[in-house]
Amino acid sequence: MNIIVLIKQVPDTTEVKLDPKTGNLIREGIESIINPDDQHALEAAISLKEAFGGKVTAVSMGPPQAIDAISEALGMGVDKGILLSDRAFSGADTWATSFTLGKAIEKIGKYDLVLCGRQAIDGDTAQIGPQVAEYLGVPQVSYVYEIEETRKKSMVVKRRLEDGFERLQCNLPALFTVIGEINTPRYPDIGGLIAACEEKAPITIWNAADIGVQTSEIGLEGSLTHVIKTFSPKFKREGEILEGDGEEAVGSLIGKLKENRLI
Ligand SMILES: Cc1cc2nc3c(=O)[nH]c(=O)nc-3n(C[C@H](O)[C@H](O)[C@H](O)COP(=O)(O)OP(=O)(O)OC[C@H]3O[C@@H](n4cnc5c(N)ncnc54)[C@H](O)[C@@H]3O)c2cc1C
Repeated sequence: MNIIVLIKQVPDTTEVKLDPKTGNLIREGIESIINPDDQHALEAAISLKEAFGGKVTAVSMGPPQAIDAISEALGMGVDKGILLSDRAFSGADTWATSFTLGKAIEKIGKYDLVLCGRQAIDGDTAQIGPQVAEYLGVPQVSYVYEIEETRKKSMVVKRRLEDGFERLQCNLPALFTVIGEINTPRYPDIGGLIAACEEKAPITIWNAADIGVQTSEIGLEGSLTHVIKTFSPKFKREGEILEGDGEEAVGSLIGKLKENRLI
């Protein structure tokens, strides 16, 4: 079974702080990690390889330092890593990101399954998985909670719904986005990383020309949406002193709480 896992390197924080002047994410002093949901996607892929054989390829689009995320994936047991890195990819919205990842998958060639995390903790759109599946023209299942059965040409999976589960049989090749409850990711193993690095070129870097895309189709130029402004909401805290003696003040406090449907 040949599996491709899409992994994103993200800042290790869920409390994204924005520079009030530029509106950019403040990255200084924040470590980078493999997006948490993607660690679960990697674990699912490696477990399937261990059970049924085949090869796992991790693909990431990002700056040169995203190679650290791919190295970590190799340490977990991935066979090959591909980093899509080119200045022309920068500024991509989710449309351009999905197009670029889709083109890279086409270049990799034959695959049975593409696994993604449900959502990245920084961008948070959860759009990439479904958009890549649309681009590739393969069926997709989002919110995968369990892979129950693997057959020759299909898989049976359980996906999480708001108030329950749904069991689906899905033809392969397909794309699944997984949620954190699917498994517990293993830690990268130094021995595994060294073994992977000893093999010939386990990490390949592809630029725009390598995947045959024009600059007008990728990055900022190829993006159909543009961020006009990014800002944190401002909270106004207004105090009010309730007049009267204790009983009167408590009475008006209760009245205000009821009025605002707080009790
Ligand atoms: C309007 C708009 C404009 C933007 N402009 C910029 C910009 O100027 N500069 C900038 O840096 N970003 C920009 N972004 C953010 C960028 O588009 C997203 O970070 C990127 O498309 C991934 O989306 P996401 O983080 O919401 O991922 P999600 O859709 O939440 O991620 C789901 C899954 O997709 C996979 N995935 C996501 N991203 C990658 C990746 N890069 N490589 C491999 N797998 C991946 C992972 O498996 C992940 O778990 C913009 C976003 C929008 C909506």
